[in-house]
Amino acid sequence: MPVIKPTCVRDLKLRVNLADVVSRMVTLRKAGGARLKGLCPFHNEKTPSFNVDPDKGYYHCFGCGKSGDIISFVRETEQLNFSEAVEALGKRFGIPIEYEEGSGGPSNADRTLRQEVFDLHDAAAEHFYQAFKAKDATGDALRQLWTEKRRFTPELADEFKIGAADAQGSGLGAAMMRRKFSEEALRRCGLFFIYDDAAITLQTLRPRFRGRLMIPIRDHQGRVCAFTARQTDLTPEDDPAKDAKYVNSPETPIFTKGNLLFNLDRARTAVGEGKPFVMVEGQLDALRCWSVGLKTAIAPQGTSITEGQLVLLRRYHTKVECFFDSDSAGQKAALRFLPMALKAGLEIRFLTLAGDGKVDPDLLFLERGLAAYDEVRRDAKSAMAFACRAALPDPLTASAELKSRAAQTVFEIIAHAESEVTRSEFINETSSHLRLPLAAAQKDFQTFLHRQSRQAAARPAATPPEGVAPALPRTAHTPERDLLLLCLHFETIGKPLSLSIPHDWIDLAHPAGALLNRFLGEFEHDLWPGKDHLENLLESDAERSLVASLLFETPGFEEPLKVAQEGLRLLRSRALEPRLRQIELALANPHADIESDPISLLKERSELHRLLRQPIALAASA
Ligand code: ZN
Repeated sequence: MPVIKPTCVRDLKLRVNLADVVSRMVTLRKAGGARLKGLCPFHNEKTPSFNVDPDKGYYHCFGCGKSGDIISFVRETEQLNFSEAVEALGKRFGIPIEYEEGSGGPSNADRTLRQEVFDLHDAAAEHFYQAFKAKDATGDALRQLWTEKRRFTPELADEFKIGAADAQGSGLGAAMMRRKFSEEALRRCGLFFIYDDAAITLQTLRPRFRGRLMIPIRDHQGRVCAFTARQTDLTPEDDPAKDAKYVNSPETPIFTKGNLLFNLDRARTAVGEGKPFVMVEGQLDALRCWSVGLKTAIAPQGTSITEGQLVLLRRYHTKVECFFDSDSAGQKAALRFLPMALKAGLEIRFLTLAGDGKVDPDLLFLERGLAAYDEVRRDAKSAMAFACRAALPDPLTASAELKSRAAQTVFEIIAHAESEVTRSEFINETSSHLRLPLAAAQKDFQTFLHRQSRQAAARPAATPPEGVAPALPRTAHTPERDLLLLCLHFETIGKPLSLSIPHDWIDLAHPAGALLNRFLGEFEHDLWPGKDHLENLLESDAERSLVASLLFETPGFEEPLKVAQEGLRLLRSRALEPRLRQIELALANPHADIESDPISLLKERSELHRLLRQPIALAASA
């Protein structure tokens, strides 16, 4: 294994700003001082508790307790090992990585499978793109399809690396074998059909995609992780999925359909105030939006939208405009989407097209450009207006029975919103859209909720949804923890504290105690490196996490000295009082089998009393 030089790791940490690394995944806002705050990428939450301190180079989440530095962030969010995380950061920020003499650079075999499959996709995307640009039968046909049939520009193809898979698909396997990817990566990348027991040769590497237009799918960090392949006139007869208009990559170590939104890697940097996400149905719709300058369009991967995708979305922005085809399939998809979106805490509006369903967003933007977006936006429907319209198209002439049934449909959607305020606003809106008296709608909704909870109670308990972190026990406020907090925020108190606390008063069984002991040792010997340079003093993730959380805490200490004295007093009582009680007990039962004679016990008792009564004072620092 190649070993990265420690000096190089230190250099990287100094030169790369944590905020730049984190903001690729989390939208950060100012949170007082130099600190930033955002929605935690490690657990599901609606109010930000993920704190970043770029000056100190630490992040900490008060919701799930995750914390660390740039390297741990990249390790955890990108599932890389230490060296890979350092290499990825070096590559991203243009910092050369140096290895220890003789340990060699990274080789394919050393990298984890995921990284290799990513590399393989990168190489495959380039291969397909070159085939698309090639002046041969395949390239010519697909470029013509792109520009004449789909009416996209060559520049857009370049920007998104649109590719071509030829009808024989012969070139891809050879190209990947030349790059010396491992057998495991070739088997599991999803680009080939390989029989399990077949040895890998050019003949057994049978490409999955042939005679198709290749659209690279990128994850939210912009890495190609899959392909969508559109059927063309070149799609061969013996393609197992010949009749499928679109064929997607299967799930692989780097691709899970339900976690991915097409174009999120670009759209997330374009969203902001007045620029919500625009959810469209297909990848080509999203490309159309992009081509006319609507940069915030995203599309689900495949037909169904999952909660995982929406949680991912909410990390960047909470406002989403849903723009699906006006045919009935599109409207049904929109209705399925709504409850999930409410549950995820997204604010949804619906863009709808007037007419008979023959116009779709692709055609609309193609013909009228970005101006069409402003127009449909003017008629955007709120979530409830859309839901009510779908449940009851014509409330003016509907019977009470029909209205009541429609209301139940809408209630089911409203029940997914978690906020009471939101729910009550939705009920208001529903009553006006369905033309129901407000009081009646409110009452019916309450009845609906009661019935729902009765039904839920009758069902066996559901397991908590994935990704939701269990509530953490609050870190206990031991004197060690308080003193540690004190040392980190009032560093001048460290030295006197270190001279006042006997080592055996500290409980080393918990990280706070072990750390306090170590820190006091540094103070005592004038070796304290300063709170911004603690990396070498921290030995475990538990310790790193604790220090990060303490560094983010704002101690309300008006008089640090008093807090120090109180901490000392608590440590002293905890250390001495049990012994005192033991002695009292022994003296009260003179016949019990005791370890020492009564005289020395009496002596020890008076010494303990004296110590416990002694006023607490911090030793004067030398
Ligand atoms: Zn968290």
